[in-house]
Amino acid sequence: MGLKNKVALVTGSTSGIGLGIARALAAEGASVMLNGFGDAGEIEALRVSLEKEFSVKVAYYDADLSKPDQVAGLVQKTQDKLGGIDILVNNAGIQFTAPVEEFPEAKWDAIIAINLSAVFHGMKAAIPAMKKNKWGRIINIASAHGLVASPHKVAYVAAKHGVVGATKVAAVETANDGITVNAICPGWVLTPLVQKQLEDRAKEAGTDVDTEKKKMLQETQPMLKFSTPEEIGALVVFLCSDGAATMTGAPISIDGGWVAH
Ligand code: NAD
Repeated sequence: MGLKNKVALVTGSTSGIGLGIARALAAEGASVMLNGFGDAGEIEALRVSLEKEFSVKVAYYDADLSKPDQVAGLVQKTQDKLGGIDILVNNAGIQFTAPVEEFPEAKWDAIIAINLSAVFHGMKAAIPAMKKNKWGRIINIASAHGLVASPHKVAYVAAKHGVVGATKVAAVETANDGITVNAICPGWVLTPLVQKQLEDRAKEAGTDVDTEKKKMLQETQPMLKFSTPEEIGALVVFLCSDGAATMTGAPISIDGGWVAH
């Protein structure tokens, strides 16, 4: 229970990696603000079940992170409902794939807004309170695609490289304020975001999802298995611990060896 009395905001935590992170932080005793889209009834059931399972306060706010004022509003709501903001995990993200010359402008704008600009707006809104407390942990969920490219992902790769850059700047600026700012760079994690890509690939190649899973891993990851939301959650917990007090400005790979080769 190393994070008792800490308040964490995890964006995009109604699903996938964000939910894994929210669970890991709640298991350590942190109060958690959930955010993301989904069925209202299911999200309320999730909120209540996390409160019961971990005996912590869990709130939810349905801010749309493509809107800068709603990102700031989400940080404010976290402070109002849970009494502060100690940990900010910028996790919400979307994907779209197409070659550069066919990539729709609206998709570019949406990916840059949610995957990159929301990270800036979130950090801008949260850092003043963290400075006041002389303690803060910001963890930005980038990607292996924050460090290397793949075809057909121009907006995603640009946004994730931007997240790594913004992480470094915020880390340098807050280095003596008790705040650390790091980026996690996962490889493949089997979530709804990746499931959609697998289904698209299977349709295009005339194969099935299981075949595409194997091919997807073989293309990029020497370790032929997916990372899990639980593993990403455990890394976030470590970054919030005293053991990571001097780790800042780092892109941290958890990718089965993807960017090592
Ligand atoms: P996911 O689709 O399972 O979850 C995305 C979450 O973001 C959901 O809760 C969704 O509701 C929320 N979201 C989307 N648009 C939003 C908006 N406008 N406002 C508020 N919330 C919004 O995806 P995931 O795979 O868990 O991805 C989470 C993060 O991890 C993303 O930033 C993604 O780029 C990154 N990532 C994923 C993988 C992977 O293999 N799955 C690898 C590297 C990085």
